[in-house]
Amino acid sequence: MEKRPFITKDQAESIAAKFPTPFHLYDEAGLRENAKRVQQAFSWNKGFREYFAVKANPNPFLMKIMHEYGCGCDCSSMTELMLSEAIGIIGEEVMFSSNDTPVEEFSKAAAMGAIINLDDITQIDVVEKTLGYLPEKMSCRFNPGGMFAISNEIMDNPGDAKYGMTEKQLFEAFRILKEKGVKEFGLHSFLCSNTVSNDYYPMLAKILFELAVRLARETGVHISFINLSGGVGIPYRPDQESNDILVIGEGVRKVYEEVLSAAGMDDVAIYTEMGRFMTGPYGCLVTRAINEKHIYKEYVGVDACAVNLMRPAMYGAYHHITVLGKEDAPHDHVYDVTGSLCENNDKFAIDRDLPEVETGDLLVIHDTGAHGFSMGYNYNGKLRSAEILWRTDHTPQLIRRAETPKDYFATFDGFDFYEQLAK
Ligand SMILES: *Cc1c(COP(=O)(O)O)cnc(C)c1O
Repeated sequence: MEKRPFITKDQAESIAAKFPTPFHLYDEAGLRENAKRVQQAFSWNKGFREYFAVKANPNPFLMKIMHEYGCGCDCSSMTELMLSEAIGIIGEEVMFSSNDTPVEEFSKAAAMGAIINLDDITQIDVVEKTLGYLPEKMSCRFNPGGMFAISNEIMDNPGDAKYGMTEKQLFEAFRILKEKGVKEFGLHSFLCSNTVSNDYYPMLAKILFELAVRLARETGVHISFINLSGGVGIPYRPDQESNDILVIGEGVRKVYEEVLSAAGMDDVAIYTEMGRFMTGPYGCLVTRAINEKHIYKEYVGVDACAVNLMRPAMYGAYHHITVLGKEDAPHDHVYDVTGSLCENNDKFAIDRDLPEVETGDLLVIHDTGAHGFSMGYNYNGKLRSAEILWRTDHTPQLIRRAETPKDYFATFDGFDFYEQLAK
């Protein structure tokens, strides 16, 4: 499928005249339509809730938009919990799915009334000691081990992942929790990241639903929710077809009837914790070409770098690039598109077919709405960019300003940068 940016060159130039590049831009209309579709896809399930995975894009403006469509927050750190609390998302609208968890975070989650999802059986004692009690509703994370495949294609390797409990531990954990007075149980698992397939959730659902039936029978617990977690992917490449969340929801519904309803467990709520699928396609990184270089290869240097979007450098991930105003020009040049870090992996694209890029051109790097800004860092003294919401009325709203050198120099203890400079 052809990938088109959600803004034109003129629109991007008018935003850039107000807020200098680089910046992440988010498409409010796209975010809203998608959030609405997710609710629709699972409307057959009475207790359904999407807990937006905050780590994908921890911006309160976006979290609030999704909350309007019933989305809660999936948090896994202190600051994510604090952010959620600050915008009024508390209680059972918060899922705390963490691992290697510092005890203060369990306290914070419990104080907010969040549902705690235990990553390990050893955490039962830790939580009980920390809080002095166990919440009435608790969840456990399952890791089935081995390889996970869809239609013979290996998708991921849960056996090599640090998360979750073995099946044996899970049964044991449910028994212990029940004995200690826990009344409502949840089951959670995340097997595979960025699945561009409508089959992932239904397959995972089948595994978890069947397990839930056995758990309920053998331990006598009441399972009140099953959390399919994240992992629903997006088509980063133009040759990939996007998932259809309505088909996915219907696939889960079928398995629900076959397994849970058939076992008399039709009061189980379905939860999801999607991050990438909720915001990924509705963000882009807008950056300007500021240098060209012709050596053994052709380079376009832009004013963003890997600190603004680390996925290409870290995972070799593909992000589509559009040169604004040249959408329909022949892609008859081959470039490496680079940032300015003193690291050779600071490349947004390698050997990419693009139209001729001239210094001053604006480039849109697609699909940065999830795990984009949020994975940012400050290497080489580079600063985090602004985040801008492209509102439904096609006006830009600054929802996070760009960092300034002052922010970067603010954390030295006993060395006031600006005082020293003034001397
Ligand atoms: C990262 C993560 C998610 C979100 O994953 P996506 O691939 O962005 O959908 C959900 N739940 C947990 C526990 C996670 O760690």
